[in-house]
Amino acid sequence: MTTSKRRYHITTFGCQMNKADSERMAGILEDMGFEFSEDPNHADVILYNTCTIRDNAEQKVYSYLGRQAKRKHEQPDLTLVVAGCVAQQEGEALLRRVPELDLVMGPQHANRLKDLLESVFGGNQVVATEPVHIMEDITQPRRDSKVTAWVNVIYGCNERCTYCVVPNVRGVEQSRTPEAIRAEMEELGRQGYKEITLLGQNIDAYGRDLPGSTSEGRHLHTFTDLLYYVHDVPGVERLRFATSHPRYFTERLIKACAELPKVCEHFHIPFQSGDNDVLKAMSRGYTHEKYRRIIDTIRKYMPDASISADAIVGFPGETEAQFENTLKLVEDIGFDQLNTAAYSPRPGTPAALWENQLSEEVKSDRLQRLNHLVAIKAAERSQRYFGRIEEVLVEDQNPKDPTQVMGRTGGNRLTFFTGDINELKGQLVKVKITEVRAFSLTGEPIEVRQALPV
Ligand code: SF4
Repeated sequence: MTTSKRRYHITTFGCQMNKADSERMAGILEDMGFEFSEDPNHADVILYNTCTIRDNAEQKVYSYLGRQAKRKHEQPDLTLVVAGCVAQQEGEALLRRVPELDLVMGPQHANRLKDLLESVFGGNQVVATEPVHIMEDITQPRRDSKVTAWVNVIYGCNERCTYCVVPNVRGVEQSRTPEAIRAEMEELGRQGYKEITLLGQNIDAYGRDLPGSTSEGRHLHTFTDLLYYVHDVPGVERLRFATSHPRYFTERLIKACAELPKVCEHFHIPFQSGDNDVLKAMSRGYTHEKYRRIIDTIRKYMPDASISADAIVGFPGETEAQFENTLKLVEDIGFDQLNTAAYSPRPGTPAALWENQLSEEVKSDRLQRLNHLVAIKAAERSQRYFGRIEEVLVEDQNPKDPTQVMGRTGGNRLTFFTGDINELKGQLVKVKITEVRAFSLTGEPIEVRQALPV
């Protein structure tokens, strides 16, 4: 079967890790001669890269699949693929639910897509969910942006947070070598990428599984060491990283971030709950006091740093008083951004089996109250930008106003200002902030940092 001019479409659900995996799989499909089709109904290979972090995320893919499964009855050579965390969680069961599927592949198999599809084109229905060691990619990801890029540094997670499905679906921690990470970043620098986000479910665990330890018995490779090792990659002007874990967040890392000029002063450190008994039940491995000390230490070294986090409300057994401890922590810390969610029982996680589940009413009431406070605090935090000059990396045109461009400050604040995207894309522009909103800013361009080679 010829693959030239055959077309593919990828729909991605969920987190940055999934988006990065989709870019890798798109790169493989293009390397196989497929072309991207904006419209899935014109594609010959349809791939859904799925998320199962909460039930509503999981349910989304089934409605999409239903439509394409019908289409397959009229177009038998249509290839249907489910990748990502629902694929890993459901495996064979997904074939029973949607017999029209050709390939079910877990996240660890993302860069084996070519071999798996060749088996499908050979007439097989394939399920690839067995744990594997993730080899380095041989094909270039097809990245959505030409300015910012994601680079995986560690796959999987060895933690056992009692609400989280990630360890079951993404497997054990697998760190890439510092050399492989630096090589990918150097290539990105040569291609003109200005900002790189280093990715890991629990990025502070980086290196624990790599051989070698120092004379003091410390892991030779830690995330802090990696930051020092990749900080001077030519052409890359900004470094970000996500997602941090308070259990392993060190003062050594904070000092490094303060010292290394390219590291953006923005930290994403999920706290999940402000109550110690709930944190214990979640098996998070820290207290709210420890979390507060981390934020205080960050603000000691970088007073203006942006702090974002994730929080869960309505965890099994959470009392009104315990929920109020979460509100109190949010009130005290003042987050620039907080991703909030109501607890959703996930298959294969301990907390899903517990008796003391809360009602949907209680959960949505608490979510609403928390979101209300988050917006107030974010608006307060945003005020500090008014009248300041911020450096913004221009990523795109403002979809709502073509006379404006948009990008992010070092503190990860989305910022809009007048400008021509053809001129300013990928440029670092000094912008005087004239308008602040809870989660975004508007300003006037002052100066373009010396035009960097694009
Ligand atoms: S650290 Fe916990 S919440 Fe985060 S991915 Fe791992 S198990 Fe899930």
